[in-house]
Parts: sequence; C-alpha cells; structure tokens
Amino acid sequence: MSTTVRTALITGANRGIGRAIAASLLLHAGIKVLVAARNEANAEETAAALGGNVAGVALDLADPSAAAATMTDIESQYGPLDILVNNAGILLSGDALDTDLAMLDEALRVNTLGPIALMRVVGPGMRSRGWGRIVNLSSGWGSFHEGMEGPTSYAISKAALNAATVSFARALGETVKVNAMCPGWVRTRMGGDNASRSPEEGADTAVWLATLPDDGPSGGFFRDRQPIGW
Ligand code: NDP
Repeated sequence: MSTTVRTALITGANRGIGRAIAASLLLHAGIKVLVAARNEANAEETAAALGGNVAGVALDLADPSAAAATMTDIESQYGPLDILVNNAGILLSGDALDTDLAMLDEALRVNTLGPIALMRVVGPGMRSRGWGRIVNLSSGWGSFHEGMEGPTSYAISKAALNAATVSFARALGETVKVNAMCPGWVRTRMGGDNASRSPEEGADTAVWLATLPDDGPSGGFFRDRQPIGW
C-alpha cells in the first residue's frame, strides 16, 4: 500500500474477530479506522480502548435499508471509505426443517443484505476514485465445496454472501478488490471457547485482503491467505 491515508470501516468491531481486525489495521501506517457496532456506546468504548487513529460509529445491519442510509451519513462525516470489512454476523442454529422464514430472513438481513447494502453505498465511490478493498467475512459452512455443513440459515446466508462477492468484484472493476474469506474456527462468542484459533489468527487473512497491493486478487475466497473452493 502507498502512504496515502485510507479510511477503513469494520462492522461488528466491538468484539471477536472484528475487534482484532480493527486493532491490526490500526498498526498499519496511514489507515484511519472506524469501528462500527450496532450500539453506539460499544462503538465508542471500543474506539477509546483501541486508541490511535480511530473513531466509533453506530451501524446496525438488522435493517439493511437503514444501514445504507447510516453508511451514507458516515461517509459524509468521515469522508469516503477506502476499505470496508463486512465482519458482523449472526449464527442461528437449526437444519432446514427447523429454520422458519423469519429465522432465514434475520440471517439474510445481517449476513447478506446488510453487507450488500453497504457495498452498494461505498462501491461506486471506490470505483470512481480508482482504489478500494472490500472483505466479506464468510465461512466454510457457506461453501458448497466444503459441504455446506453449517446451520441452514447460516449456510444459505454465507453462500449468498459468496455469490455477492463475485458479483461486486465483477461490477467494481480491477482497482477495487472484493474478496470473501473464512477465518477458520475462532474463539469468540460465536465460535466458543473450544475453537482452535485466537481472534488475531482469525483476523489475519481479512487484514491481508484489506491491504492488498494493486496486483492482488479480486473475486476470490480465501482461508490462511490461500484460495479455497466456493
Ligand atoms: P461474534 O459473535 O463474536 O461477533 C459478532 C459481531 O457482529 C458482534 O460485534 C455483534 O455485535 C455484531 N452483530 C451482530 N448482529 C449485528 C447487527 N444486526 N448489526 C451490526 N452488528 C451486528 O462473531 P465472530 O467475531 O466470531 O465472527 C465474525 C465474523 O466471522 C462473522 O461474520 C462470522 O460469521 C464469521 N466466522 C466466524 C467463525 C468463528 O469460528 N468464530 C467461523 C467462520 C466465520 P453485538 O456485540 O452488538 O452483538
């Protein structure tokens, strides 16, 4: 990356992998970090705890249209985003028969439509300025190649996020890198205490994708900085 100051926003950055991504991006020279949380107090507390070139912003994905409007306000206040990390996510348990439409709707709003709404707001500006990095936190549980083994609403929402990654990569052109990644099994509230990886380990590939050089990949799916099957 050049030394130009870039503005990055990470959703769900108040805890777990999102917080580790924010902390790691803050170590990069020239990146201003906006930590987004659905609760304003959490966002501000996290920003204060992390310190440095950081601010906290409230951003709830449960209503994707409202999230898009909020993102427009955030760009008016802090300037255009150069890096978007769609990290926030929810995991609702249940197989196909246990998953009613309300559960599927909730999972799709937070895990898929919210990220798409944010990409639609920030993507065109990144494209016209000729630089952008978008990272979508997906999961092997949303991979057909890996068997779609997660709970149904989660698997469907992450598979659809993967599809959106390919579509946006195509639409936003070569200078905006749009990639999906799986962090592995990570010790967070979602992953539980027995998971094999720390939040910092889970964040590594996301941070790499958020800071890709100009000849880096776009439209791919990665784990441990290596391509994986969709
Ligand atoms: P956590 O459950 O620890 O954190 C989830 C984050 O998302 C929290 O900040 C939470 O906010 C936020 N969030 C939830 N709902 C909303 C909403 N409606 N609007 C805005 N933010 C919201 O999860 P992880 O850190 O483990 O996961 C981060 C990402 O990595 C997710 O997309 C997940 O699917 C993915 N992933 C995680 C794996 C793991 O093993 N942990 C494995 C594979 C993928 P709040 O604190 O307010 O609830």
